[in-house]
Amino acid sequence: MSVPYASKVFPATTAVNDAGRLEIGGCDVADLARDFGTPLYVFDEATLRGQAEGFLREFRSRYANSRVVYACKAFINVPLARYLAGLGLGFDVVSGGEAAVLRAAGADMATVDFHGNNKTPQEIAQAVEWGVGHFVIDSFHELRLLNETAGAAGRVQPVLIRVSPSIDPHTHRLTTTGVLDSKFGFPIETGDAEEAVRQAMAAANLDLQGLHFHLGSPIFELEPYTEATERVLRFAARMREHGMELRRFSPGGGFAIAYTEDDEPPSIAAYAEAIAGALTEGCAANGLPPPELTIEPGRSLSGPAGVALYTVGAIKRVPGVRTYVSVDGGMGDNIRPALYGSRYVAVAANRANAPATETVTIAGKYCESGDVLIHDARLAPVQADDLIAIPASGAYAPSMASVYNLNGRPAIVMTSEGEAALLRRRETYEDLIAQDAL
Ligand SMILES: *Cc1c(COP(=O)(O)O)cnc(C)c1O
Repeated sequence: MSVPYASKVFPATTAVNDAGRLEIGGCDVADLARDFGTPLYVFDEATLRGQAEGFLREFRSRYANSRVVYACKAFINVPLARYLAGLGLGFDVVSGGEAAVLRAAGADMATVDFHGNNKTPQEIAQAVEWGVGHFVIDSFHELRLLNETAGAAGRVQPVLIRVSPSIDPHTHRLTTTGVLDSKFGFPIETGDAEEAVRQAMAAANLDLQGLHFHLGSPIFELEPYTEATERVLRFAARMREHGMELRRFSPGGGFAIAYTEDDEPPSIAAYAEAIAGALTEGCAANGLPPPELTIEPGRSLSGPAGVALYTVGAIKRVPGVRTYVSVDGGMGDNIRPALYGSRYVAVAANRANAPATETVTIAGKYCESGDVLIHDARLAPVQADDLIAIPASGAYAPSMASVYNLNGRPAIVMTSEGEAALLRRRETYEDLIAQDAL
């Protein structure tokens, strides 16, 4: 039986078994909780693969010369990197640490794009040495540093320039990146983008291959992508006067997913249609040969595949005010509600057929009043030891996890056809003191 409610926010394989418990990837959540403990992050392999193959298929069928790179900051580790590389994805990294994980996973470093507004000299030198495919240059400081570093290493480093097209994607203030007042990118509007192109073309050790922009995330509209693409292609056409040929073009990531039943994100096909259409038309209009297209989904790949699983502990009823249902995780494994006011839904995972008749606040176990995962969640009546599942948790929850209050970070598993494979074990007390000088 399929889940009668909240189905669109749960992974594709989610079902309710005869015992009334959720199954993800054919695994009963009670078995997962018993075997791996909670809080637990469960990735549904079929959903992850479906999203990855969906991006590859929908973009390549409309624009053959398309590349899909996974934005690692949504969540990466060694086994996940191996798995995604096996599906034919490249990677976008924003730190030396992410690059090191890919390297440990044996990923082809030529498939890696290195982003970031303040890459350190050490990160730059290391990434050049490791043969990272492309740097996406984000400042004049980086441009000079990278040119010197590549020269010292005897390399000519392929690069893109990150431009800021001054397009507001109408998402959260804290996740808007392509407007003029942003720390990211060279604004086209001020002439800085043109100056960056001029300097990169003049840099002996840089091979300027194209342009990148990233507007923010999540973006529920298509127009920001088409408008920004048009604007950046007009800019690219103008940059021919500096000798730049647009061989690669990247409109970033930011593709939205449904966190709640109310969210209506465009389909992958709709994003592909908008971006491939704008790119094809914009190239024709500006007399540009069609470049390679790189898209960088993060949230939309791992987000829908991940479910956070918690165990209920204390329940506090404040008559006439609110009921607090506390779980064994919280802001340490998912900071998004506290940071962005992000909304989620929850299901009583071991009573998945019980109607959601109560309105409760699902709180974490951290010593902060702001440690609330869901305000006013609709939930079936629960008691201590019940399991709560929060879907759409695969992106930016585990990757932003902290050890605040010295709660270790959760275990992460991937489920497929009734089998669960550990992606990361739970952090132990030994792990928590391992770096301390004793
Ligand atoms: C964060 C980021 C992405 C991925 O964004 P999602 O919303 O997770 O798809 C892609 N490209 C760049 C440059 C980013 O900073």
